[in-house]
Amino acid sequence: MAFPIQQALETSRRSSSPKTHIIKASHGHAFEVKKGEQFRVVDLYGEQIVDFAAWVANTNLIQKLSMSYSRYHLSGVQPAVGECLWDNTDEPILRVVEDTVKVHDMTFMSCNPEFYQKMGAKHHRSCATNIAEKMQFYGMGSYLEVTDPFNIFQNTPNYSLKPLGTSKPGDYIQFEALKDCVCAASCCPYVRSAFPATTTGDVTTCLP
Ligand SMILES: [Zn+2]
Repeated sequence: MAFPIQQALETSRRSSSPKTHIIKASHGHAFEVKKGEQFRVVDLYGEQIVDFAAWVANTNLIQKLSMSYSRYHLSGVQPAVGECLWDNTDEPILRVVEDTVKVHDMTFMSCNPEFYQKMGAKHHRSCATNIAEKMQFYGMGSYLEVTDPFNIFQNTPNYSLKPLGTSKPGDYIQFEALKDCVCAASCCPYVRSAFPATTTGDVTTCLP
């Protein structure tokens, strides 16, 4: 399916400082954004969940996006366009600028090695290790340091196991950084319908 990729690249060409990164299926990506810059996470093929985390730059990974602070400020409801995600210093860190899906999750942890091992799948890729792998450059030593993620495009209200993804090809969410940040995203390798499949065949792109 070439169309969504072409569309994403076209979108990136229209932005003022285009920079597109295709995240390989079941892999991760880390990128820096400055305060005031915007970036977008695009689902190229549809129904792809993206575990997303962020840290305030130059804080030794101590100040970070916090789902508990975000849930508190948003009364447990995912952010609407114009609303923010919060960090663990009780300040807004990211603002949602555009959102074509409006279905995301603020409750689930990232999938991790133990999660897959308990289901009999050793050496399965996971969002926690994908993020840790890319955050190693910024000083992360272990996937156990990965913060609870904002699960983009994940459809799990009240822990219900609905069809996990509701996004269509080309759907996206766009954020404005309210602080200088390092962000990380993982193309979630979990496939509920075909476990233990190792990849989803989907890719996602960020446009810092
Ligand atoms: Zn995952």
